[in-house]
Formats: sequence, structure tokens, C-alpha cells
Amino acid sequence: MAKFVCLCGHVISTSGLIPNPDEWRCLSDQDFESFTGLIDAEDLYRETKIMYRCPASGHLWVYWRGFDQLPAVYAPTELPEGWQTSTPPR
Ligand SMILES: [Zn+2]
Repeated sequence: MAKFVCLCGHVISTSGLIPNPDEWRCLSDQDFESFTGLIDAEDLYRETKIMYRCPASGHLWVYWRGFDQLPAVYAPTELPEGWQTSTPPR
């Protein structure tokens, strides 16, 4: 089973359970615009970037350039008390 160790020490599996509870997929809005009408889920899936979210720390490991390149790692940040977003989500 393929796996890696998060910065927090938690082990994240990249294979095994299907669907993988730690694996997420993302797609830019611009790339999504190339799809129209009814689409095949597999076609959409192939266009997505793979990322893993550590269930222990919340770190995001994003493989922007594919699995054969190192991922970018993002850590959650505490927002200042009273913080409000100025633009509500759609
Ligand atoms: Zn972690």
C-alpha cells in the first residue's frame, strides 16, 4: 500500500480503500468551463488535480504537477477573532 507521512506524523494512504477518505479532487473554474452539457464522470475525474487532506492536522498535500512531482503542502491557519469574509460564497 502506498503511503506517506504528513508533517504532523500521521500516515496518509494513497491506495487501499476506494474511495479513499483522505483523497480529494479539485478542478479550476476555468478548466471546468471546458465541459458543457451532460458529462462523463470519468472525463471530469481525469482533469482534476489530486490532493490529500490529513485528518489529524488538516494539512493539504496538492499534486498540482502530477504524482511524479513533489506536492505543495498547505497548513490551516487560524483566522483572527471576528474575521468575516467580505464576499459570501456562491
Ligand atoms: Zn497531518
